[in-house]
Amino acid sequence: MAKRKSTTAAGYGYAHQALRRALLADAYGKHCPRCDLPMLPGQSLDLDHTDDRSGYNGMAHASCNRAAGARKRNAQRRKTWSTSRNW
Ligand SMILES: [Zn+2]
Repeated sequence: MAKRKSTTAAGYGYAHQALRRALLADAYGKHCPRCDLPMLPGQSLDLDHTDDRSGYNGMAHASCNRAAGARKRNAQRRKTWSTSRNW
């Protein structure tokens, strides 16, 4: 149980992981390219792809990176966010 899904299958292979690790230590104290706030130790950071996925923007807050990725999808999914109230 609790077997982790392969990160390679999700499009984040070994090269990405190695690059992320190398950049992570250097990223703390720098400003997030998405929200312009400093990236602090203890915060979750992602290696942020450019929008066309041809390269990397550098490190960004994981929350900022994922919000940017979700923004496009939200346009189509907004209806599904309504909660079902059976009570
Ligand atoms: Zn940020």
